[in-house]
Amino acid sequence: MRSAGGRLKRKTKIIATLGPAVQSPEAIRELVAAGMNVARLNFSHGDHDSHRAFHGWVRRAADDAGEPVAVLQDIQGPRIRVGTFPGGEVTLERGVGVTLMPGEGEGDAANICIENLDAVGLVPGSPIIMSDGLIALEALDVSGGVVTAKVTDGGVLRDHKGVAFPGSPLNVPAVTAKDEADLAFGQELGVDYVASSFVSSGEDVRMVKKLAQGTHVIAKIESAIGYQNLDDILEEASGAMVARGDLGVELSFESVPAAQQDILARANARARLSITATEMLESMTSSPRPTRAEVTDVSNAVLDGTDAVMLSAETAIGEYPVRAVEAMDRICREAEGSHGYGRGPDIRFLEDHARFASATAQACVDAAANLGLEAIVAFTESGSTARLISKYRPRADVYAFTPRTDTYRAMALYAGVTPLMFERVESTDEMIAYAERHLLEGGIVSPGDGVVMAAGIPPNQSAATNLMKLHAIGSTTSGIPGRGNG
Ligand code: PEP
Repeated sequence: MRSAGGRLKRKTKIIATLGPAVQSPEAIRELVAAGMNVARLNFSHGDHDSHRAFHGWVRRAADDAGEPVAVLQDIQGPRIRVGTFPGGEVTLERGVGVTLMPGEGEGDAANICIENLDAVGLVPGSPIIMSDGLIALEALDVSGGVVTAKVTDGGVLRDHKGVAFPGSPLNVPAVTAKDEADLAFGQELGVDYVASSFVSSGEDVRMVKKLAQGTHVIAKIESAIGYQNLDDILEEASGAMVARGDLGVELSFESVPAAQQDILARANARARLSITATEMLESMTSSPRPTRAEVTDVSNAVLDGTDAVMLSAETAIGEYPVRAVEAMDRICREAEGSHGYGRGPDIRFLEDHARFASATAQACVDAAANLGLEAIVAFTESGSTARLISKYRPRADVYAFTPRTDTYRAMALYAGVTPLMFERVESTDEMIAYAERHLLEGGIVSPGDGVVMAAGIPPNQSAATNLMKLHAIGSTTSGIPGRGNG
């Protein structure tokens, strides 16, 4: 099915991290026009004023473009980071000695501040990994909270880069005082999602959910313990992010591909959202074209069933932020057109209170496939009907009508779903007539096309999805739908 503009719709959603490279209303408009579906505010960087400005620009750009764009607040969590450097970066040379001190202040190539360093149980010989594994040090001596270390793998270290201490005990709370203040600020802004860093258990997610006051929480899986407790975490979280930067340090880089497939499959099987993140088009930070390996990586994530692919440094500090989003857009579309797309991991019927809804969703997807129909229409309050249908990764496009603006924006992250606003009506017939009119006016369907519709009836009562209708456009009563002609 083609959108009103005549382009094939992209199913996989694109998350772009905002930062100094896109710090203007015009730059944000360009990202939206290029295909950014979700804007990520990374609270490990920037201050509340800059996040407030970005939030306002995203909301305005989305309204002006008539596109749903969600805002994802990524909180730092119990992650330990380096302080700052004059000019924003230093180069650490292999073999040299450095002093590591607790704190968040400014350092240099010989003296580096590390927040909460005194909460880490380091001993001589402990490895210290920085910047997603690019830089490695070995502790030589620990005394009075100060650590002397030798650089074993050198490289460029930028302000606020993460530090990992594989094998060393940490004594940092799951939600820090900074996270609490940032979450309160996110509530004030009205963000759509919170991404919680270094989640290690379902209990950690519960703590963040309480502070996020109903905002959907995505658990970043980036530690060995978080991966080990994935099922417990998915019980509580709305989704999981494969945060490959830190995961690749904690688990070893060669474990990441299998862990990625496993996390995506398990999140999808439980009808949770799934995100693949970090270094997807890393070379585009300084190059206008991606490497072939990066293109293959993005394509494989799409075929592995991810809801969304994420850009970090590429859009936050890169030289080609808009081209990076455009490249993602092209790669996703191509992957979605291949015959491997949509065969997806094993999505099973949910056995909880959503079992009617998941059975209806699967029936809708099967009917659309068997009849060759190209549109599935979902009516949804919370978004769950659309999310369940999306999880079966239909070839048909999903048009999800909701009367709620929070749901409209949140659905921007669901693969294959086009969110649409809808005035609350009293009856199922009025709902169907409204959707039909909208799709016809938008040039999305033509008279005679068949569509599959899913809803919970009676309307407006948060009923579980329990209705599937095969509907011929142009007949507001029943009829046998013809094939779509899109
Ligand atoms: C990651 O580690 O892959 C990640 C997404 O987290 P951050 O960007 O906060 O380091």
